[in-house]
Amino acid sequence: MRWSQTFIPTLKETPAEAEIISHKLLLRAGLIRKLTGGLYTFLPLGLRALRKVEQIVREEMDRAGALEILMPALQPPEIWQQSGRYESAQGVFFKARDRAKKEWILGPTHEEVVTTLIAGELSSYRQLPRNFYQIQTKFRDEIRPRFGLMRAKEFVMKDAYSFDVSDEAAQASYQKMYDAYARIFHRCGLNTMAVEADTGVMAGKFSHEFMVPADTGENEVAWCENCHYAANLDKASSGTPPTETASGGALEKFATPGVATIEDLARPPYNAPASRQIKTLVYMVENKPALILVRGDHQLNEAKLAGALGTAAFRPAEAEEIFAALGAHPGSLGAVGVKHLPIHADDSLRGGAGLATGANEDGFHLRGVEIARDIAVNDWNDLRLARAGEPCLKCGRPLRIRRAIEVGHVFKLGTKYSEAFNACFLDEAGRKQPAVMGCYGIGVTRTLQAVVEQCNDKDGIIWPASVAPYTVCLTPLSVAPGGPVMKLAEELYAALAARGADVILDDRDERPGVKFKDSELIGFPIRVGIGERSLARGEVELKPRGGPMTPVKAEQAVEKVLEILAV
Ligand SMILES: [Zn+2]
Repeated sequence: MRWSQTFIPTLKETPAEAEIISHKLLLRAGLIRKLTGGLYTFLPLGLRALRKVEQIVREEMDRAGALEILMPALQPPEIWQQSGRYESAQGVFFKARDRAKKEWILGPTHEEVVTTLIAGELSSYRQLPRNFYQIQTKFRDEIRPRFGLMRAKEFVMKDAYSFDVSDEAAQASYQKMYDAYARIFHRCGLNTMAVEADTGVMAGKFSHEFMVPADTGENEVAWCENCHYAANLDKASSGTPPTETASGGALEKFATPGVATIEDLARPPYNAPASRQIKTLVYMVENKPALILVRGDHQLNEAKLAGALGTAAFRPAEAEEIFAALGAHPGSLGAVGVKHLPIHADDSLRGGAGLATGANEDGFHLRGVEIARDIAVNDWNDLRLARAGEPCLKCGRPLRIRRAIEVGHVFKLGTKYSEAFNACFLDEAGRKQPAVMGCYGIGVTRTLQAVVEQCNDKDGIIWPASVAPYTVCLTPLSVAPGGPVMKLAEELYAALAARGADVILDDRDERPGVKFKDSELIGFPIRVGIGERSLARGEVELKPRGGPMTPVKAEQAVEKVLEILAV
């Protein structure tokens, strides 16, 4: 490609709309342009990089035995009703209406579509295993689209769905995808960590997210440097010293005028340390009140609560609902003596004594609470948010927490969808069985931006060769037609192209400074500078992006470039 023939509108200034470095660089390097919030056009260079990421994904999915298909983006709402997700997914749907005013859904994901497909085709165990994937534009009604391609309304995803005869076989399919994902991200030049992920209300622990560590990431990951335990903070467990049980003693009610928070009760004259208080939270679970207890210095993790309750249909209760349930206002709530509501408690409270809590009477608290004696806990679970510095459950070293960008997710689904859509087969004994499913997503456009977020310096992007829009930029410093510089540039261009290199020739009549700056900003892996002075010595200047410039003999330039790219 000749620079003058393509379209690369680089920007000197950082557009005000961009908050994070990768978003700034994608705009400045002329790779994407914004239409409106959460919607972007890929310009020629951006599209080349996107196609390369897609191709890596495609090759590794094919290698893992998955079959590429293409499903409709437009979906009938009936299949979402059939799976039981129509209500819970309302918040993410983009909807359309046809001329008959019938509702349609622009697909945010395709479990319903693919399971409908399989239900119509599957009859025998001999047809399994199968894994179908597609690379397609998805839609999501983001409340707050931001960070460019990271959180957009429309984005390219690779989604795959596996169907197996048994749990064991599904586990093998899961592992294949896990391994393929590791190869995909490695080939894209990304450092990722595979972390244990929350499985929501579904039982089972087979869910991993592939995370790119980045301060601008929207996820938090707890990890252990020593044993490499890593989990999404939604899922992470950590050790905690047991709640002190020192002083038992009698239950005592005391006046606490004006006390509304854990902190208030921790101060004089009450002096009840947060770690010796019980935090009582009221939640509406499927429209019925329930009490959730965690230690005063701990935070509830709602993802864990969903797992413990077996439903995602819950929310914090409103003030009136709380008063109706306990007869007191927040600040004086407690579970002592409560028999009419289900009580879910965090494991770290187990065996606690000598604790303080609200008395369910405004302006009063209780001390000397002994959980086993005074509170009728129905259900103990790990419900709290892990914190940095707490001991790793596997090895005891302190856990660390860091931010990360989720680029992929592998998930064992089980038979929820195959049962809902009757995607069943007859097993060897002739018994009808639902297929055991897994689903596997990669945010393709997000992966592209994650590469930029991870690979850059003060001058611009540093593309890994595997996903660079072009791998070699030839930069003649004088473009006079027929001159020796341009003549050599044309020769190298033809020779590199003939050897399969993705080469762009900067044939613009611009000052060398402008050309160098643009090529650093866009981040081509190798720049070959061709100037009269070096040419007089029979040399060109070879500069890997982010590395030092080295002169090489003009006749060795092609081999040298290919050598660097092959590394
Ligand atoms: Zn550890």
